[in-house]
Amino acid sequence: MRPTYLLLDIDGVLIPFPGTGGSIPATHVRHEVVPAGRSADNPVTVWLNPDHGPMLMDVIRTGLVTPVWCTSWRQDATTLIGPILGLPSLPHVDLPRSRITTSHPNGYLWKRDHVDAWLADAPAVWIDDDFTGLDHAWAAERTAEGTPTLLVQPDPRLGLRPGHLTELTAWASQLPAARAD
Ligand SMILES: [Mg+2]
Repeated sequence: MRPTYLLLDIDGVLIPFPGTGGSIPATHVRHEVVPAGRSADNPVTVWLNPDHGPMLMDVIRTGLVTPVWCTSWRQDATTLIGPILGLPSLPHVDLPRSRITTSHPNGYLWKRDHVDAWLADAPAVWIDDDFTGLDHAWAAERTAEGTPTLLVQPDPRLGLRPGHLTELTAWASQLPAARAD
């Protein structure tokens, strides 16, 4: 059986969206990063919670899920964001650079068709702030067809909270694959 993947978004999950008046949760620390292809004198400001690294490592060390970045940061997730949080080098889903003006060009998350093809029949827990009802229906259908699929959807202004990881660990630990070894 293929591993159970943990697909991990960044914007709205590890980097919260500013709230009213530009507020950021007090847990988050400001960093400047220079994404690939951008000039060094034009960095991007990101806000990250230093607790997220250890929290995610606790999940990764269970061996219940195989973590993969699934974000428009693409390779920059591995080279820029992960190291700030103390995460090991993780692979990423190579999402296309499509010219879209909405996250939901067909009523569901733009990443989903690529993720669906990438996962094939692998079980997955996917953390993203931007799912629609159609994405939740997709996950329910996959699960009904024998491919356990859990969507975890943080509030983008708060980002990832400990409860999300508790939920996914509990879910992954009751999968047949988890019991087999
Ligand atoms: Mg997002």
